[in-house]
Amino acid sequence: KPEYAFIGRSNVGKSSLINMLTNRKGLAMTSSTPGKTMLINHFLINGEWYLVDLPGYGYARRGKENRDRLQQIIEDYVLEREALTSLFVLVDSRHEPQKIDLEFMEWLGENGVPFGIVFTKGDKQGPVRLQQNVDAYKQKLLETWEELPPVFVTSSEKKSGREELLDYIEEINKSVL
Ligand code: GDP
Repeated sequence: KPEYAFIGRSNVGKSSLINMLTNRKGLAMTSSTPGKTMLINHFLINGEWYLVDLPGYGYARRGKENRDRLQQIIEDYVLEREALTSLFVLVDSRHEPQKIDLEFMEWLGENGVPFGIVFTKGDKQGPVRLQQNVDAYKQKLLETWEELPPVFVTSSEKKSGREELLDYIEEINKSVL
């Protein structure tokens, strides 16, 4: 079954986003690893696809050794997992483009891994500011990318952006199933 993975820096709002995507009516979710906190968690959605929760990256307090180990686990999954259909890189909509995220996206591009960008915490600023931030981010990406990846603007607080993201995934599923 196709897998869609979510990744981002610690505290970007990944758990909240995954909860928003899954904790509502209409989606049946089962964890393939019940009761265990695994480094990589798979959730079967509607019996059709897996939502994959990847560990957060770039968390300095974890210490170098742990960080390298996590990095390796992420790399192995992203490069070797055949079922991985698309990866969603989460970025905080309030922040300037961060080097670690941009470098990660470049690495994805170099390795031909399809990805989209999910802006999180969209409710934390007004709509005008939010749009400015998203546009600035796209502008920054266009300095190195010829084409923009799919972009989603979300707020787990306001439950917005959920349908767009799920529709997008369903659309790809239709073509790969
Ligand atoms: P993770 O470490 O990436 O899993 O991040 P969490 O989902 O735990 O969120 C980190 C912090 O950001 C928590 O305090 C959340 O309540 C907050 N947060 C996450 N998403 C949103 C959002 O859409 N809006 C607002 N206002 N806060 C959010």
